[in-house]
Amino acid sequence: AQAHLDAIEKARALNAYIVATPDRALKMAEVSDEKIAKGEARPLEGLPLGIKDLFATQGVHTTAGSKILEGFEPHYESNVSTQLWRDGAVMLGKLNLDEFAMGSSNETSAYGKTISPWRRNGSDAAIVPGGSSGGSAAAVAAHLCLGATATDTGGSIRQPAAFTGTVGIKPTYGRCSRWGIIAYASSLDQAGPIARTVQDCAILLGSMAGHDPRDTTSVDRAVPDFEAAVTRGVKGLTIGIPKEYRVEGMPEEILRLWDQGAEWLKAAGATIKEISLPHTQYALPAYYIVAPAEASSNLARYDGVRYGLRVPGKDIAGMYENTRAAGFGREVKRRIMIGTYVLSAGYYDAYYVRAQKIRTLIKRDFERAYADGVDAILTPATPSAAFGLGEMASADPVQMYLNDVFTVTVNMAGLPGIAVPAGLDSQGLPLGLQLIGRPFDEETLFAAAQVVE
Ligand code: GLN
Repeated sequence: AQAHLDAIEKARALNAYIVATPDRALKMAEVSDEKIAKGEARPLEGLPLGIKDLFATQGVHTTAGSKILEGFEPHYESNVSTQLWRDGAVMLGKLNLDEFAMGSSNETSAYGKTISPWRRNGSDAAIVPGGSSGGSAAAVAAHLCLGATATDTGGSIRQPAAFTGTVGIKPTYGRCSRWGIIAYASSLDQAGPIARTVQDCAILLGSMAGHDPRDTTSVDRAVPDFEAAVTRGVKGLTIGIPKEYRVEGMPEEILRLWDQGAEWLKAAGATIKEISLPHTQYALPAYYIVAPAEASSNLARYDGVRYGLRVPGKDIAGMYENTRAAGFGREVKRRIMIGTYVLSAGYYDAYYVRAQKIRTLIKRDFERAYADGVDAILTPATPSAAFGLGEMASADPVQMYLNDVFTVTVNMAGLPGIAVPAGLDSQGLPLGLQLIGRPFDEETLFAAAQVVE
């Protein structure tokens, strides 16, 4: 824990942590030392972890990367982090993220941008770690923690993992409790780990997962031994390659890597099968209706009364307006406006209901593939390698949204997905592949990801 705290101090320039919690870390590490000395070590005893600052941590500043939560110290602890501490893990601090988990580059945080430890060959130019769990991915990649919690609404675990050469899994919707995680889009949000190896991810997910009566969408199902699944191999499995993921303009090297991944799985005994997921092209536009719609509703609670920032006004409505105007950043305001618009009378059927119908069709595409005998689906994790800081922050936000084209389908269908590093591009930046599984079959993903890794 001390070594990691020192490393965090030295790597301040990356801005991966919003706040480090050295006192808490050392106190928890002391308990771990005692447990180990007594021969009572728990499963994660003494392992130093970072927590995405979207998880409520009792008595520790919790910001969601937003100014509107300035000064908020929850009096409760998220279910996922509670389980990690129960198993002996040590908390190093809170990790940076895009404001309210909205973004794909970690450039929208009110606490400054996080920078990736990676650089292009022969260049000093800063690279983004991806988002929204950019702090988690950068911290894991830079060895500022052993593993980290993250959340994924439309790719926020898998895309930053792919951008930083780390492993990240978004489990099946309902596998982890969302209790105590600040909500972005409740029907899509899931927690999961980012770590440096498939095995580390399996160990961490084993601790994070499980039924919680406080989240009615968390599923009452036994948590399998994920670690045991890692070495299971892929012999006899059928891996689907969806032709619709060959999007135009994708770099040749990503296509090559994708073929390479399929070759590795084949060499390990899997059968490769081309499949079709015909509604893929509608996933991104539908996601960018459903997610903002839910966000606009979830974010209504930040009114200056209950949490964090309060900016006075001439009456209570004025206080609400001033607080929200000062507290939310540009991207969050854009999402609230889009969400409110698509939910409003007269537009609801044209946008929101249509997007929900598309969501059903996307889910059916996957169900059909799995019914046809496919065990897991292999795709690139992202359509490009990590981009430079500021390169995408153009006037057109859609450019940034396009990054999520391979990840949002998985959230729309509630399926598990893992991103695993598979190689470097010609500029020396990591590229990741994604494996998508059947509902509650994270085990197959760990087994297949281990072959690719
Ligand atoms: N980039 C996507 C968005 O901004 C996904 C974010 C996420 O998964 N939290 O909505």
